[in-house]
Amino acid sequence: METIEELNKKFKNSSPEEVLEYFLSKNNNIALSSSFGAEDQVLTHMMLKIKNDANIFTLDTGRLPYETYDVMDRTNLKYNIKVNVFFPNSDNVEKLYQKQGINGFYESVENRKNCCFVRKLEPLKRALENVDIWVTGLRAEQSITRKDMQMFEYDESNDLIKLNPLINFTEKQVWDYILKNNVPFNKLHSQGYPSIGCAPCTRAIKEDEDIRSGRWWWENPEHKECGLHQK
Ligand code: SF4
Repeated sequence: METIEELNKKFKNSSPEEVLEYFLSKNNNIALSSSFGAEDQVLTHMMLKIKNDANIFTLDTGRLPYETYDVMDRTNLKYNIKVNVFFPNSDNVEKLYQKQGINGFYESVENRKNCCFVRKLEPLKRALENVDIWVTGLRAEQSITRKDMQMFEYDESNDLIKLNPLINFTEKQVWDYILKNNVPFNKLHSQGYPSIGCAPCTRAIKEDEDIRSGRWWWENPEHKECGLHQK
């Protein structure tokens, strides 16, 4: 396998479909982590068009909005698949509850990170156990913490290659693709939610606000990642 630098050079001018086709056809252990947001839905459609049993998984934190379960269901039905679901370890959730209550994440960054660890990061570790290439829907224009990201990155905490096929996509390109291909999308996107995570940690934003400002809105921008996508 080439280095990250070589991969970024090799696929510099490739479309997301071309990059995905290259890796899916090589049958590498490649998987998309989906939260059923607009970008993930575009990638789901692209990947299943290339390989109808492509590995797509999601992390059900137990705190997702109803609308996310709704789009999960519609996605499974449309593509005749069952997206793989990873749930948090129940012992860990019970201990977390004893330690910081049910909504303790509002009280401090530390509490919030504890919750994200139990409900997202630990299940993610399990989901990525046999994966060599982790596909994500990250886009550079989504936030200040993502503006320098590249299509290929090395993910140190999981020791694998992270592939961000839509890194240079604009929001308009994402929505043009969704509408043209009749891709199911989360109804919260039509209610002012460009980025959707857990229900208690996501709010709608106003037109002039940053795309990610509805996530953990009570924290400073530099803290606004759940740990899934830190270098
Ligand atoms: S986004 Fe909020 S509810 Fe979800 S895991 Fe993180 S802190 Fe917990």
